Amino acid sequence: MLIVMHHQATQEQIDQVIAAVIAMGLQAEPIPGSLRTAIGVLGNQGYVDDSTIRTLAGVRETIHVSKPYKLVSRDFHPVSTVVDVSGVRFGDGEKPVIIAGPCSVESEEQILEAAEQVKAAGAQMLRGGAFKPRTGPYSFQGLGLKGLKYLQQAGQASGLPVVTEVMRIEQLDTICQHADMLQVGARNMQNFDLLKEVGKTGHPVLLKRGMSATIEEFLAAAEYIVAEGNTQVVLCERGIRTFEKTTRNTLDLSVVPLIREMSHLPIIVDPSHATGKRMLVPIMSKAALVAGAHGVMVEVHPNPAGALCDGAQSLSGNDFAEFMKDIDRLYEFLGYSD
Ligand code: PEP
Ligand code: MN
Repeated sequence: MLIVMHHQATQEQIDQVIAAVIAMGLQAEPIPGSLRTAIGVLGNQGYVDDSTIRTLAGVRETIHVSKPYKLVSRDFHPVSTVVDVSGVRFGDGEKPVIIAGPCSVESEEQILEAAEQVKAAGAQMLRGGAFKPRTGPYSFQGLGLKGLKYLQQAGQASGLPVVTEVMRIEQLDTICQHADMLQVGARNMQNFDLLKEVGKTGHPVLLKRGMSATIEEFLAAAEYIVAEGNTQVVLCERGIRTFEKTTRNTLDLSVVPLIREMSHLPIIVDPSHATGKRMLVPIMSKAALVAGAHGVMVEVHPNPAGALCDGAQSLSGNDFAEFMKDIDRLYEFLGYSD
Protein backbone atom coordinates (compact mmCIF):
# COMPACT_ATOMS: atom_id res chain seq x y z
CA MET A 1 0.00 0.00 0.00
CA LEU A 2 1.07 3.56 -0.67
CA ILE A 3 -0.02 6.38 1.64
CA VAL A 4 -0.04 9.73 -0.14
CA MET A 5 0.24 12.74 2.17
CA HIS A 6 -1.21 16.21 1.49
CA HIS A 7 1.36 18.59 0.11
CA GLN A 8 1.10 20.76 3.22
CA ALA A 9 1.43 17.77 5.61
CA THR A 10 3.87 18.49 8.43
CA GLN A 11 6.80 16.29 9.45
CA GLU A 12 4.94 15.55 12.68
CA GLN A 13 1.94 14.23 10.72
CA ILE A 14 4.25 12.12 8.56
CA ASP A 15 5.88 10.71 11.70
CA GLN A 16 2.45 9.89 13.16
CA VAL A 17 1.50 7.94 10.05
CA ILE A 18 4.80 6.07 10.13
CA ALA A 19 4.23 5.20 13.79
CA ALA A 20 0.70 3.95 12.97
CA VAL A 21 2.04 1.71 10.21
CA ILE A 22 4.70 0.28 12.52
CA ALA A 23 2.05 -0.30 15.20
CA MET A 24 0.23 -2.50 12.64
CA GLY A 25 3.34 -4.70 12.51
CA LEU A 26 4.37 -3.38 9.08
CA GLN A 27 7.30 -1.37 7.74
CA ALA A 28 7.01 2.21 6.53
CA GLU A 29 9.28 3.75 3.94
CA PRO A 30 8.88 7.49 3.37
CA ILE A 31 9.29 8.55 -0.27
CA PRO A 32 9.90 12.30 -0.44
CA GLY A 33 8.62 13.89 -3.63
CA SER A 34 8.95 17.41 -5.00
CA LEU A 35 5.30 18.20 -4.17
CA ARG A 36 4.35 15.77 -1.44
CA THR A 37 5.60 12.84 0.57
CA ALA A 38 4.29 9.34 0.10
CA ILE A 39 4.82 6.49 2.54
CA GLY A 40 5.31 3.01 1.20
CA VAL A 41 3.96 0.20 3.36
CA LEU A 42 5.91 -3.03 3.25
CA GLY A 43 5.74 -6.41 4.89
CA ASN A 44 2.04 -7.17 4.39
CA GLN A 45 1.02 -10.56 3.03
CA GLY A 46 -2.40 -9.51 1.80
CA TYR A 47 -4.82 -6.60 1.85
CA VAL A 48 -4.01 -3.91 4.44
CA ASP A 49 -6.96 -2.51 6.38
CA ASP A 50 -6.40 1.22 5.91
CA SER A 51 -9.45 2.52 7.82
CA THR A 52 -7.37 4.01 10.66
CA ILE A 53 -4.63 5.36 8.44
CA ARG A 54 -7.11 7.20 6.21
CA THR A 55 -8.40 9.21 9.15
CA LEU A 56 -5.00 10.45 10.29
CA ALA A 57 -4.16 14.13 9.85
CA GLY A 58 -2.27 14.98 6.67
CA VAL A 59 -3.25 11.83 4.76
CA ARG A 60 -4.65 12.56 1.30
CA GLU A 61 -5.31 9.02 0.04
CA THR A 62 -4.16 5.44 0.23
CA ILE A 63 -3.42 3.39 -2.86
CA HIS A 64 -3.51 -0.38 -2.70
CA VAL A 65 -0.72 -1.80 -4.80
CA SER A 66 -1.59 -5.31 -5.84
CA LYS A 67 1.56 -5.81 -7.88
CA PRO A 68 3.95 -8.54 -6.77
CA TYR A 69 6.76 -6.00 -6.65
CA LYS A 70 7.11 -2.78 -4.70
CA LEU A 71 10.73 -2.06 -3.89
CA VAL A 72 11.70 -2.06 -7.57
CA SER A 73 8.77 0.10 -8.65
CA ARG A 74 8.96 3.81 -9.33
CA ASP A 75 5.86 4.36 -7.21
CA PHE A 76 7.87 3.42 -4.17
CA HIS A 77 11.21 4.80 -5.28
CA PRO A 78 10.89 7.62 -7.82
CA VAL A 79 14.62 8.34 -8.08
CA SER A 80 16.49 6.27 -10.67
CA THR A 81 18.98 3.81 -9.22
CA VAL A 82 22.55 3.99 -10.45
CA VAL A 83 24.33 0.64 -10.45
CA ASP A 84 28.07 0.93 -9.99
CA VAL A 85 30.18 -2.00 -11.18
CA SER A 86 33.74 -1.25 -10.11
CA GLY A 87 33.42 2.31 -11.41
CA VAL A 88 31.28 1.57 -14.49
CA ARG A 89 27.92 3.21 -13.88
CA PHE A 90 24.58 2.09 -15.31
CA GLY A 91 21.68 4.55 -15.33
CA ASP A 92 23.52 7.73 -14.37
CA GLY A 93 22.28 9.66 -17.42
CA GLU A 94 25.73 9.61 -18.99
CA LYS A 95 26.69 7.45 -22.00
CA PRO A 96 25.13 3.98 -21.94
CA VAL A 97 27.42 1.07 -21.03
CA ILE A 98 28.69 -1.34 -23.68
CA ILE A 99 29.47 -4.83 -22.39
CA ALA A 100 31.22 -7.13 -24.86
CA GLY A 101 32.99 -10.46 -24.94
CA PRO A 102 32.53 -14.06 -25.93
CA CYS A 103 29.61 -16.27 -25.02
CA SER A 104 32.01 -18.55 -23.14
CA VAL A 105 35.55 -18.43 -21.92
CA GLU A 106 37.21 -21.10 -24.08
CA SER A 107 40.90 -20.67 -23.25
CA GLU A 108 43.28 -18.22 -21.65
CA GLU A 109 44.39 -16.94 -25.08
CA GLN A 110 40.85 -16.58 -26.40
CA ILE A 111 39.57 -14.46 -23.51
CA LEU A 112 42.75 -12.35 -23.34
CA GLU A 113 42.48 -11.63 -27.05
CA ALA A 114 38.76 -10.87 -26.83
CA ALA A 115 39.37 -8.53 -23.88
CA GLU A 116 42.09 -6.69 -25.74
CA GLN A 117 39.90 -6.30 -28.84
CA VAL A 118 36.81 -5.04 -27.03
CA LYS A 119 38.82 -2.71 -24.81
CA ALA A 120 40.64 -1.22 -27.80
CA ALA A 121 37.31 -0.61 -29.53
CA GLY A 122 35.84 1.15 -26.48
CA ALA A 123 33.80 -1.37 -24.48
CA GLN A 124 33.47 -0.58 -20.78
CA MET A 125 32.93 -4.12 -19.50
CA LEU A 126 33.93 -7.65 -20.43
CA ARG A 127 31.56 -10.63 -20.50
CA GLY A 128 32.34 -14.34 -20.66
CA GLY A 129 30.60 -17.44 -19.38
CA ALA A 130 32.52 -19.93 -17.23
CA PHE A 131 29.50 -21.94 -16.07
CA LYS A 132 27.22 -22.29 -19.07
CA PRO A 133 23.48 -23.11 -19.03
CA ARG A 134 23.37 -25.14 -22.26
CA THR A 135 20.08 -26.46 -23.54
CA GLY A 136 21.54 -29.93 -24.17
CA PRO A 137 23.90 -31.87 -21.89
CA TYR A 138 26.35 -32.73 -24.69
CA SER A 139 27.11 -29.11 -25.65
CA PHE A 140 30.20 -27.34 -24.24
CA GLN A 141 29.42 -26.63 -20.59
CA GLY A 142 32.11 -24.01 -19.96
CA LEU A 143 35.52 -24.24 -18.30
CA GLY A 144 34.14 -23.70 -14.78
CA LEU A 145 36.57 -22.36 -12.19
CA LYS A 146 39.45 -22.36 -14.66
CA GLY A 147 37.39 -20.19 -17.02
CA LEU A 148 36.48 -17.87 -14.17
CA LYS A 149 40.16 -17.34 -13.38
CA TYR A 150 41.01 -16.65 -17.03
CA LEU A 151 38.15 -14.15 -17.16
CA GLN A 152 39.39 -12.34 -14.06
CA GLN A 153 42.89 -12.26 -15.51
CA ALA A 154 41.59 -10.84 -18.80
CA GLY A 155 39.60 -8.23 -16.88
CA GLN A 156 42.68 -7.19 -14.96
CA ALA A 157 44.87 -7.13 -18.06
CA SER A 158 42.42 -4.93 -19.96
CA GLY A 159 41.20 -2.87 -17.00
CA LEU A 160 37.58 -3.89 -17.70
CA PRO A 161 35.20 -5.05 -14.95
CA VAL A 162 33.82 -8.51 -15.72
CA VAL A 163 30.37 -10.10 -15.64
CA THR A 164 29.74 -13.83 -15.64
CA GLU A 165 26.81 -16.13 -15.03
CA VAL A 166 26.06 -17.87 -11.75
CA MET A 167 23.90 -20.98 -12.10
CA ARG A 168 23.94 -22.42 -8.60
CA ILE A 169 24.02 -21.10 -5.05
CA GLU A 170 27.20 -23.07 -4.28
CA GLN A 171 29.06 -21.12 -7.00
CA LEU A 172 28.21 -17.72 -5.52
CA ASP A 173 31.17 -17.23 -3.15
CA THR A 174 33.73 -18.18 -5.76
CA ILE A 175 32.15 -16.08 -8.49
CA CYS A 176 31.89 -13.05 -6.17
CA GLN A 177 35.63 -13.38 -5.53
CA HIS A 178 36.50 -13.40 -9.23
CA ALA A 179 33.87 -11.26 -10.98
CA ASP A 180 32.64 -7.69 -10.58
CA MET A 181 29.05 -8.52 -11.53
CA LEU A 182 26.87 -11.62 -11.25
CA GLN A 183 24.70 -12.60 -14.19
CA VAL A 184 21.49 -14.49 -13.54
CA GLY A 185 20.55 -16.06 -16.86
CA ALA A 186 17.18 -16.28 -18.56
CA ARG A 187 16.79 -19.93 -17.51
CA ASN A 188 17.25 -18.99 -13.86
CA MET A 189 15.12 -15.87 -13.72
CA GLN A 190 12.59 -17.70 -11.59
CA ASN A 191 15.07 -19.72 -9.53
CA PHE A 192 13.83 -17.97 -6.41
CA ASP A 193 16.31 -19.57 -4.01
CA LEU A 194 19.18 -18.41 -6.21
CA LEU A 195 17.71 -14.91 -6.46
CA LYS A 196 17.45 -14.65 -2.68
CA GLU A 197 21.06 -15.71 -2.17
CA VAL A 198 22.22 -13.33 -4.90
CA GLY A 199 20.33 -10.63 -3.01
CA LYS A 200 22.28 -11.39 0.16
CA THR A 201 25.67 -10.91 -1.50
CA GLY A 202 25.35 -7.17 -2.19
CA HIS A 203 27.31 -7.80 -5.42
CA PRO A 204 26.01 -6.00 -8.56
CA VAL A 205 23.64 -8.21 -10.56
CA LEU A 206 22.66 -8.47 -14.22
CA LEU A 207 19.24 -10.11 -14.23
CA LYS A 208 18.15 -11.43 -17.61
CA ARG A 209 14.50 -11.71 -18.56
CA GLY A 210 13.19 -15.26 -18.70
CA MET A 211 12.34 -16.40 -22.20
CA SER A 212 8.64 -16.57 -21.41
CA ALA A 213 8.47 -14.06 -18.59
CA THR A 214 6.01 -11.22 -18.53
CA ILE A 215 7.24 -7.79 -17.46
CA GLU A 216 5.48 -8.27 -14.14
CA GLU A 217 7.28 -11.58 -13.56
CA PHE A 218 10.57 -9.96 -14.60
CA LEU A 219 10.14 -7.19 -12.04
CA ALA A 220 8.96 -9.65 -9.39
CA ALA A 221 12.19 -11.60 -9.92
CA ALA A 222 14.19 -8.40 -9.39
CA GLU A 223 12.11 -7.79 -6.26
CA TYR A 224 13.45 -11.05 -4.77
CA ILE A 225 16.99 -9.67 -5.03
CA VAL A 226 16.18 -6.17 -3.80
CA ALA A 227 14.05 -7.51 -0.93
CA GLU A 228 17.23 -9.10 0.46
CA GLY A 229 18.86 -5.68 0.57
CA ASN A 230 20.74 -5.67 -2.74
CA THR A 231 19.60 -2.69 -4.83
CA GLN A 232 22.44 -3.03 -7.35
CA VAL A 233 20.38 -4.73 -10.04
CA VAL A 234 20.54 -4.09 -13.80
CA LEU A 235 17.73 -5.66 -15.82
CA CYS A 236 18.47 -7.18 -19.24
CA GLU A 237 16.03 -7.79 -22.08
CA ARG A 238 17.34 -10.71 -24.16
CA GLY A 239 14.35 -11.60 -26.31
CA ILE A 240 11.34 -13.71 -25.56
CA ARG A 241 10.09 -16.86 -27.21
CA THR A 242 7.35 -16.42 -29.78
CA PHE A 243 6.14 -18.41 -32.79
CA GLU A 244 8.79 -16.70 -34.95
CA LYS A 245 11.66 -18.99 -35.89
CA THR A 246 13.72 -16.76 -38.20
CA THR A 247 15.30 -15.13 -35.19
CA ARG A 248 16.46 -17.08 -32.12
CA ASN A 249 14.04 -15.09 -29.95
CA THR A 250 11.88 -12.03 -30.51
CA LEU A 251 13.44 -8.83 -29.21
CA ASP A 252 10.81 -7.03 -27.16
CA LEU A 253 12.12 -3.48 -27.28
CA SER A 254 8.97 -1.95 -25.89
CA VAL A 255 10.03 -3.18 -22.44
CA VAL A 256 12.80 -0.60 -22.39
CA PRO A 257 10.64 2.53 -22.14
CA LEU A 258 8.04 0.58 -20.15
CA ILE A 259 10.51 -0.60 -17.54
CA ARG A 260 12.05 2.85 -17.34
CA GLU A 261 8.62 4.11 -16.37
CA MET A 262 7.64 1.23 -14.09
CA SER A 263 10.94 0.77 -12.28
CA HIS A 264 13.88 2.80 -11.05
CA LEU A 265 16.35 0.05 -11.99
CA PRO A 266 18.50 0.45 -15.12
CA ILE A 267 17.71 -1.75 -18.12
CA ILE A 268 20.05 -2.92 -20.87
CA VAL A 269 19.50 -5.05 -23.99
CA ASP A 270 21.30 -8.16 -25.25
CA PRO A 271 20.69 -8.19 -29.02
CA SER A 272 22.94 -11.25 -29.52
CA HIS A 273 20.72 -13.75 -27.70
CA ALA A 274 17.61 -11.84 -28.73
CA THR A 275 18.24 -12.30 -32.46
CA GLY A 276 20.80 -15.11 -32.77
CA LYS A 277 22.07 -13.42 -35.94
CA ARG A 278 25.30 -11.45 -36.22
CA MET A 279 23.81 -9.31 -38.98
CA LEU A 280 21.05 -8.02 -36.70
CA VAL A 281 23.22 -7.21 -33.69
CA PRO A 282 24.48 -3.71 -34.65
CA ILE A 283 21.13 -2.36 -35.85
CA MET A 284 19.16 -3.77 -32.91
CA SER A 285 21.76 -2.41 -30.49
CA LYS A 286 21.22 1.04 -31.94
CA ALA A 287 17.45 0.59 -31.79
CA ALA A 288 17.80 -0.39 -28.11
CA LEU A 289 19.85 2.71 -27.32
CA VAL A 290 17.35 4.94 -29.14
CA ALA A 291 14.58 3.30 -27.09
CA GLY A 292 16.42 4.41 -23.95
CA ALA A 293 18.43 1.36 -22.89
CA HIS A 294 21.13 2.11 -20.31
CA GLY A 295 23.49 -0.16 -22.19
CA VAL A 296 23.85 -3.16 -24.46
CA MET A 297 25.66 -6.46 -24.08
CA VAL A 298 27.00 -8.03 -27.26
CA GLU A 299 28.86 -11.24 -27.94
CA VAL A 300 32.30 -10.76 -29.51
CA HIS A 301 34.69 -13.59 -30.37
CA PRO A 302 38.19 -13.33 -31.88
CA ASN A 303 37.20 -16.10 -34.32
CA PRO A 304 33.40 -16.50 -34.49
CA ALA A 305 33.63 -19.35 -37.02
CA GLY A 306 35.56 -21.43 -34.48
CA ALA A 307 33.51 -20.46 -31.41
CA LEU A 308 32.46 -23.31 -29.13
CA CYS A 309 29.13 -21.61 -28.56
CA ASP A 310 26.99 -18.95 -30.22
CA GLY A 311 29.40 -18.19 -33.08
CA ALA A 312 26.54 -17.28 -35.46
CA GLN A 313 25.53 -14.35 -33.28
CA SER A 314 29.06 -13.22 -32.35
CA LEU A 315 30.79 -10.22 -33.87
CA SER A 316 34.48 -10.53 -34.72
CA GLY A 317 36.97 -8.07 -33.22
CA ASN A 318 36.88 -6.07 -36.47
CA ASP A 319 33.08 -6.12 -36.64
CA PHE A 320 33.01 -4.83 -33.08
CA ALA A 321 35.43 -2.01 -33.81
CA GLU A 322 33.20 -0.89 -36.71
CA PHE A 323 30.15 -1.26 -34.50
CA MET A 324 31.66 0.99 -31.83
CA LYS A 325 32.40 3.71 -34.39
CA ASP A 326 28.75 3.62 -35.31
CA ILE A 327 27.72 3.73 -31.68
CA ASP A 328 29.88 6.81 -31.15
CA ARG A 329 28.10 8.51 -34.05
CA LEU A 330 24.77 7.58 -32.49
CA TYR A 331 25.85 8.97 -29.11
CA GLU A 332 26.72 12.25 -30.81
CA PHE A 333 23.29 12.28 -32.45
CA LEU A 334 21.61 11.50 -29.13
CA GLY A 335 23.48 14.35 -27.49
CA TYR A 336 25.82 12.48 -25.12
CA SER A 337 29.01 14.37 -24.48
CA ASP A 338 32.44 12.79 -24.08
C1 PEP B 1 24.44 -15.55 -21.78
O1 PEP B 1 24.31 -14.32 -21.78
O2 PEP B 1 25.53 -16.12 -21.75
C2 PEP B 1 23.22 -16.40 -21.81
C3 PEP B 1 23.29 -17.71 -21.63
O3 PEP B 1 22.10 -15.72 -22.07
P1 PEP B 1 20.57 -16.05 -21.69
O4 PEP B 1 20.56 -16.43 -20.23
O5 PEP B 1 19.89 -14.76 -21.96
O6 PEP B 1 20.14 -17.15 -22.61
MN1 MN C 1 25.71 -16.95 -25.69
